[in-house]
Parts: sequence; structure tokens; C-alpha cells
Amino acid sequence: MQEQEGRRLAELGEFGLIERIRARFPAPDGVTGIGDDCAVLKQDSMLDCLVSTDMLVEGTHFLREDIPPYDLGWKSAAVNLSDIAAMGGKPTGTFLSLALPAGLPVAWMDAFLDGYAELSKRFDVPLLGGDTTASPDRICINVTVLGECPYGRSRLRSAAAVDDLICVTGPLGDSAAGLKAILEGVERDADVQALIDRHYRPMPRVAEGQELRLNLGVHAMMDISDGIGSDLQHILDASEVDAQIDKDAIPLSLALKRACARHGWDPVALALGGGEDYELLFTCTRQAEMLICVPHFVIGRITKRSYSSSAGSDWRGSGFDHFKKR
Ligand code: ADP
Ligand code: MG
Repeated sequence: MQEQEGRRLAELGEFGLIERIRARFPAPDGVTGIGDDCAVLKQDSMLDCLVSTDMLVEGTHFLREDIPPYDLGWKSAAVNLSDIAAMGGKPTGTFLSLALPAGLPVAWMDAFLDGYAELSKRFDVPLLGGDTTASPDRICINVTVLGECPYGRSRLRSAAAVDDLICVTGPLGDSAAGLKAILEGVERDADVQALIDRHYRPMPRVAEGQELRLNLGVHAMMDISDGIGSDLQHILDASEVDAQIDKDAIPLSLALKRACARHGWDPVALALGGGEDYELLFTCTRQAEMLICVPHFVIGRITKRSYSSSAGSDWRGSGFDHFKKR
């Protein structure tokens, strides 16, 4: 493709860039490649192998002076395990790659590993390798996670069907509000601290993802890392459908409602546009929804794709893009 001179990544956007990469590297037949929460490769006649990788960069994903190293270790593991959960898979191992400034205290590193180990233990996932290098100033953490899923059963973003219900496994917006509180330096009362904890120590919905996968009426699934304003759009594009969202049905925690009332924040905007809740977003038939045992909230339904904007679609356009200015 001939590129006009001077165009920058900000114009392309994070997802424009990923699309550009995907166009050059189509997945081989029978493999789910770029575009879902994990790549899916056939392991044998019984099992698929799942692989995903995620990077956390100082200054972009976290502020070293604010996040406790234990929480950063926790979060590095959690956001990766969440992508396995999003496929309905079982995590089987992680690889941890670190670029670290030489002046970083060993105690900082030990606390980071304590957090990483805690999540690894909770989900029974061994750390199997990685890479270590020096960085001139910023900390950069990359985790690769492996998982498995019964053959052909992983839940892809492309599986949503018209009339499916759209559900999430828990309250949204807490993490975004926690980040806002950190950036604005607001007083950390119990509610604000609870939101910051949700931002720093997200809980990947690993058991819930596997439980949902057992229900054949659960169709598309992904985890919420950029906010449903952007993440739901990925399901809609992959499935070539549209959606109506009932904004009043979006679950909001009490801590979020109280903190928003106190600080004049808009909880729904935070829930739609803020990422990193790491709840699961899935679509399912009405019958299937009645059989789901894991906590979940119905927030909308899948409709036929139409190219005119309609009522119930004002959730669009929010969500996080790494290259676009906010
Ligand atoms: P998630 O939020 O679930 O981790 P991302 O939005 O980071 O997913 O990425 C979306 C898809 O694009 C994934 O399938 C991911 O593997 C792929 N992807 C992202 N960046 C790159 C890249 N630099 N090269 C190839 N694939 C990429
Ligand atoms: Mg994901």
C-alpha cells in the first residue's frame, strides 16, 4: 500500500494500525489470528491452544510513583489471564518479559513478583519463562499467556447473532473512576479507594468464562479492556451486526455512584468510555440467559446491521484508543 507522506499513527488510531497489520498477515486456514482476545490454534483432535500477549508501559498504563509494585505484578498477570477467560479457556502458563531501569530497587521487584505470584497461585497458572533486559528509564512489562479450550469451543467475537441479549458479568466504570481519582489526586475515602483497588487489582473472570463456555447458547464473548463503547463495537464488526444498549441497565457499583455524586463525575460516561474493568462482555440467546448461573446483567440486544444511527446507539464512540488524543 502506497502511504501518503507525513501521516502519523494518531490519524490511523490503535485499531487502524492493528487492521493494517492484519491485512498483511492473514491467519492460516483453521487458525484464529489477529482480531480476537487470543489466537486459537488446533492442538489435537480434542483441544485448542490459546495464546495472547499484553504489554504494560510506565507512563502509559501506570505511574510508578503511584501504583504499589505488588499491584502492578497482580495486574500484569490479571490482564493476560482475562484474555484467556474471554475465550472460555483455561490458562496453562505465562511468560514474563521485563525491561527495567538498573536503578530499580530489588525490594520493588520482589513486591512485583509477590503480586504476580499471588494471581498465578489463585488461578493455578505456572510462570514458565520470559525475557529480561535493561531499559534507559521506563519500566515495560510484557506477559504472554497460554491456555487451552476444548476443540472448536472457544468463544469468538464473531459469533453474535441477531436477537441475542448482550450481557456483562459485573459493574462497569469502577476502574475508569479509580484512574480518574488517581490522575486528579482526589481524596482517597473508602469509596475512592475501592475504585482504585478495582483499577490496580482487577480480577480476571476465569471461572466465569469457562462456565459460560459450557452453555452452548452463549455466542460471542470478550473481556472489557477498553470500555464497552469500543469493545462492543469489536463484537459488532466481527459479527456484522448492530446493537441497542439500555444505558439505564448498565450495572454500576455503589462505590462508583457515591464517588460520582461527590465529585460531579458522570458514572455512565465512565462505564461506557472507561476501560480496564476486565468483566466479560457476551451475547447469548434468551433461553440460554435463563440457564446462566454466573452473576451477569443484561444491558442490551443484538440487532440487524443498519447504517443509519438509531435510538439506543448513543453508547458508541467512547472507549480507549492508544494513539488518539482524548
Ligand atoms: P485485547 O484488548 O483483547 O488484548 P487488543 O485490542 O490489544 O486485544 O488487540 C486486538 C487484536 O489485535 C488481538 O488479536 C491482538 O493479538 C492483535 N494485535 C494487537 N497488536 C498487534 C500487533 N502489534 N501485531 C499483531 N497483532 C496485534
Ligand atoms: Mg481482550
